[in-house]
Amino acid sequence: MDASLQYKPESAWKLYSTEQTQQDMRAVTDRYIDFLSTCKTEREVIKYVEEKLRAAGYGDDASQGMVVRPFRNKALFAAKRGDQPLESGLSLIAAHTDSPRLDFKQKPLIEQADVLQGQTHYYGGIKKYQWFSRPLALHGEIICQNGTHVKLVVGEQATDPVFCIADLLPHSGHQQLEKTVQDAFEAEKMKIVLGHKLPPEINDKAKEDNDANKKEASDLIKNAILDYLHTQFAIVEEDLITAEIEVVPAGAARYVGFDRAIVGGYGQDDRICVFTALEALLASANDGRSKAVMFWDKEEIGSQGATGASARFLQYCVEDLARAWAPTTPASHVLLNTQAISADVTAALDPDYQDLHEKQNAARLGFGPCFSKFTGSKGKFGASEADAEYFAQVLQSLRRQQVPWQVAELGKVDTGGGGTVALFMASWGMRVIDLGPALLAMHSPFELASCADIYATYKAYTAFLNN
Ligand code: MN
Ligand code: MN
Repeated sequence: MDASLQYKPESAWKLYSTEQTQQDMRAVTDRYIDFLSTCKTEREVIKYVEEKLRAAGYGDDASQGMVVRPFRNKALFAAKRGDQPLESGLSLIAAHTDSPRLDFKQKPLIEQADVLQGQTHYYGGIKKYQWFSRPLALHGEIICQNGTHVKLVVGEQATDPVFCIADLLPHSGHQQLEKTVQDAFEAEKMKIVLGHKLPPEINDKAKEDNDANKKEASDLIKNAILDYLHTQFAIVEEDLITAEIEVVPAGAARYVGFDRAIVGGYGQDDRICVFTALEALLASANDGRSKAVMFWDKEEIGSQGATGASARFLQYCVEDLARAWAPTTPASHVLLNTQAISADVTAALDPDYQDLHEKQNAARLGFGPCFSKFTGSKGKFGASEADAEYFAQVLQSLRRQQVPWQVAELGKVDTGGGGTVALFMASWGMRVIDLGPALLAMHSPFELASCADIYATYKAYTAFLNN
């Protein structure tokens, strides 16, 4: 009997135990915390990525070796030319920039019961109750009628006010408590508290004539807030109709635990993969295959829309690369020969809900980035599945660089599953496999990732790009 024949996954913390590695890891996770704290919308993510790439010499001209192509402020393609012919395809990592959140409705402002509220429409898969009674920030892009763009970020600085959805008090919540979680929290009640103060002259008037005040009471707070918004940002209520205002958890990402071994923060699905893929591209070698990253929007709502993975933007970028770098090579050959990673997060074994996982095939926090050979659910429906040859090849590139890794399925066969952008990439014929870190509390306002996994994912993507 030879126990060494067995496959035994090991914690990445064991591999990363040296002082030097711990320091390198801390430098990466410190940068990651800054990124996560400031980039809370798809627009902010793209702006960050574009600035980093341009600072590293990436430009608009595809005939140069390093090209960056932002698309409508929400998606971005970047590529670095290698010394292998483009015919042999790209080494491509794709991740998504969007995260679950609350969007303002087009006519959001409503004043009732002495409070001005903003009505919302949730975006992506949220557990609604997690968004009640917690500090929230507004991140918006407002296009005024005179054409000026107003970038609104309120709730992130210590001196800023924050916003909030007031949850029902338990004393009056008996009926609510008898409902299922699904029914107990209504989307139409997810209104953000925006203001409360009556203008002083109205207070005086109210003393004189209580009845008249009741008649006029509607919209007094709203008008005062509109006055404030006009003074501060030169916007009027009608400008909110076309605006994109996203409601996100307020405050910075933080280390979690006495040992600071976990990063907690909003939007780690999938900005953890955007960040590590960007860092990997910047750290990757200049020789070998040409390397690329693709950051898409709209993954959380099905990848539809021009900036989502089901659209043609990536194909047009590859066509432009072929024209610039290898005019006799059809773009279809480049796409067919491209080797890709669908970089997205998966669910870590939850200490309190271990029975929801099939433990032998569950991802573990701190065991390195996790391969998902296929996505989809209940019998692999809707799945893209990597073939054995490609899986083995990508895994070998990680082994060669001593990068920790693991493999898992998302939940039990009958009850788990999920989708990523892999199937859209596969539709061009490229080889693709899912590889990304496991999170606890995925899709919550405060997701948790292991520092060892963040570092290992960066190392894994770098090894893949350099292969
Ligand atoms: Mn995701
Ligand atoms: Mn997601």
